[in-house]
Amino acid sequence: MEFCVTNVVKCNNIYRSGILKLISEVYTPTVINSTGDNPAFRTPICLQYTKDACIPYLTWELVQHVDDDQAPLMISLKDIYPMRISLSAFGRGIVSFSNCRPYRPSFLTVQNVLSQPKSGYNGKNAVSIWNESGRQIVDCMEFHRLKNLAKPTLFQMLCDADTPKNANNTRIDRSIDNSLGYYSCLTATSDEYGDSNSFWSILGGYSIKQRCFCASKAGDMKNGGYIIDGFQSSSLLSSDKIECDEVISIVEKVCEILPSNKPRALFGPLRPELVLKIYKAGVDIFDSSYCTYMTEKNHALVMSENEDLFKVIFTEIDMSNSNLKADFGLITNNCGCYTCTNGFTKAYINHLIKTSEILASVLLMFHNLHTYYTIFRRLQYLGGNT
Ligand SMILES: [Zn+2]
Repeated sequence: MEFCVTNVVKCNNIYRSGILKLISEVYTPTVINSTGDNPAFRTPICLQYTKDACIPYLTWELVQHVDDDQAPLMISLKDIYPMRISLSAFGRGIVSFSNCRPYRPSFLTVQNVLSQPKSGYNGKNAVSIWNESGRQIVDCMEFHRLKNLAKPTLFQMLCDADTPKNANNTRIDRSIDNSLGYYSCLTATSDEYGDSNSFWSILGGYSIKQRCFCASKAGDMKNGGYIIDGFQSSSLLSSDKIECDEVISIVEKVCEILPSNKPRALFGPLRPELVLKIYKAGVDIFDSSYCTYMTEKNHALVMSENEDLFKVIFTEIDMSNSNLKADFGLITNNCGCYTCTNGFTKAYINHLIKTSEILASVLLMFHNLHTYYTIFRRLQYLGGNT
């Protein structure tokens, strides 16, 4: 992977824009395009969130109706663990196994950002992941084996990001120590763990001091990028101003310390307002898990019209509300998503929810993904034209 920052403008807003070029043996000129280029993405980029290696509610054919159907897939180690025996026999990696186009890039994370793991089960030598069979222990050797089965384009190094809001300093220190231990073990195992496709996690919970300590270590790491990890989904989704300000001030401090020539990611269900603030703090890579979160609770994301993206007001409509049963308008009148352009009314979607039809979630997913990706398209435009 190569990353170059193409534009940084500091005035009222900070527009950090870059190009993320993926270089991997997964890509061969015959499957990319006629010019043989490796795929390149303008940042900020939004990875496509997946659960069990599929985009919730959508088949790969339907994904063609999503504007950004090229974005790398975010796939978690937690989700691929139950498939490991099949993956081993299949031999061509998780993207092919999921029947997605075999050349679509993927980013392997340790945990699934929408399912909070149980706290208190990580140790010096291993991380715990949880699935239907209960607790599974992933040490460095198991991580190495699973990663090689998944064959991701980019990946997060094994890390202990178990730092809930109430974690004390001892737990936070231990999470950093454990992760440094995994790092030493993995880099001793193979050179691929210090190469440009690997991402090191910046930990430290909600402590600015420990976050800064972890970020200061980043310069010693040979990884290609960084993930600011260890925030809880509930904090990222919180509309409490103090809690949001706390997250943003930590991200700002961390980004000041991190090398500016490497991409920074922050994953999790981020409300659009928080995406904009975290982008301004200097983060380059996000994910679309917020759209799944919204769709799961039958909500539609709506953004007001404003030429200044940073003044747009984001609201959500509870599509299960009975008041909508005679509302024959679209979710958003000038929306370009599949659902709105094909005339599906709020009343009909409301009916589909009431009758538990899966089509309701499909239609909402189209709309929510389109709206969320619109934010990134506009940020990319701003960054490329400032
Ligand atoms: Zn729409």
